[in-house]
Amino acid sequence: MDRKYFGTNGIRGIVGDLITPLFISKMSSAMASMLKNKGTVVIGADPRLSSPSIKNNVISSFLASGLEVIDLGVVPTPLVQFAVKHLHVNMGVVVTASHNTPQFNGLKIIDDDGIEIDIRKQLKVEEIFEKEQFTYVPWNENGSVTSMDLKQEYIDQIIQLVNTDSIQKKKMSVVVDSGNGAGSVITPELLRQLGVRVITVNGNLDGRFPGRGSEPTPDKLSEMSKITLQSNCDFSVAHDGDADRAIFGDEKGTIFFGDKSIVLFEKWFMSNHENKQFVTPVSSSSAVVDIADEMGGKVIWTPVGCIFVSRKMIANNILLGGEENGGLFYGLHQSVRDGAMAAALMANILAETNKTFSDLVLELPKYFQKKNKLPCPNVLKKRVMDQIVTTIPETVELIDMDGVKLIYDEGWILIRPSGTEPIFRIFVEAKTEKKTNEIMTKGMRLVQDAIRKLS
Ligand code: MG
Repeated sequence: MDRKYFGTNGIRGIVGDLITPLFISKMSSAMASMLKNKGTVVIGADPRLSSPSIKNNVISSFLASGLEVIDLGVVPTPLVQFAVKHLHVNMGVVVTASHNTPQFNGLKIIDDDGIEIDIRKQLKVEEIFEKEQFTYVPWNENGSVTSMDLKQEYIDQIIQLVNTDSIQKKKMSVVVDSGNGAGSVITPELLRQLGVRVITVNGNLDGRFPGRGSEPTPDKLSEMSKITLQSNCDFSVAHDGDADRAIFGDEKGTIFFGDKSIVLFEKWFMSNHENKQFVTPVSSSSAVVDIADEMGGKVIWTPVGCIFVSRKMIANNILLGGEENGGLFYGLHQSVRDGAMAAALMANILAETNKTFSDLVLELPKYFQKKNKLPCPNVLKKRVMDQIVTTIPETVELIDMDGVKLIYDEGWILIRPSGTEPIFRIFVEAKTEKKTNEIMTKGMRLVQDAIRKLS
């Protein structure tokens, strides 16, 4: 059965369109009914202008359903996930639309293990919602709401996991661009407590995200780069609206997408830990495999989506995961992506290796990447995928856990149907630009031939 409201990361929509007071009230009541109207829930929100009214609506529905609520205020998503485990509560809710534009909002639902609820539970909530099978408690059994500030507890847990002495000795300077999002209340304070000189950009909470928007794409981070250079900083870090992701820049102001930083984390981790396993989605660069081979470690692939990475880490006792969008999962802290943890760990790596950020990147394996898309009606997507699989010779390694990934000697191609648009997305990576173009041409033809045959 397909999900109707839950996407890759919770429920998201435009306020006033999908996200109405009635929708939020019914969805919150469905969540409470899933908990059988018992237990305690923590709730936090990003700074969007619509977040207070949505949060109060969720709280009100929970209280009427008999749940106890702890309000954590405006905080990053990973802090709510930390709070679920720290306080041993039954569920967490984050009112956020992550990196989406200001008119969006949504709900991320956190299970009692600190990870977003799995698809089975998402379907259960949707079923209760659709059938309106909510139950409310009698007037004299309503829950109560309390406020709690867990920022320092969260910061303390991160600080305990890094080498504070070497970070302090290094006397680093770092630019933090939290994009007016929830990261503004954590990352600058965390780094300062580690003895780092911090310069903030877009560091005040503002739900209109007036600085550079809430998505930290490299083209939006020129201000951060400029200040890094002007102020002689060691590196820079930018978050999305709910600060579960971190995008880094080096001391020269060059911004790198997550495919570089996760490999830096992987390399550092595998040279310092016995457990040399790394979980990452099939769309990640082969550089992760090269590093694992070099360090005697192992890469474990998942479908694209942070919940798959988190759940794989828990199931297989793996301590590190990464996504090319800037998601770092550090299991010693928590098995979810956490932007503040990533920032502290990067400071730790620079301090321990005593190298510049740009030198560390230069040491990484080099690859060329290309992305493309092809239109395809939604109804044909599944058959096109099946058709492609039948045409691939057995000598080519094939991974089909999410789309089709074909691995050749000198590169790979990933063909994925978009979950939201009538298109196929095609990613190619190879050692040379020429080879990248060759594989892309071959892959485009493969998809076009399959579509033509089936149309
Ligand atoms: Mg996010």
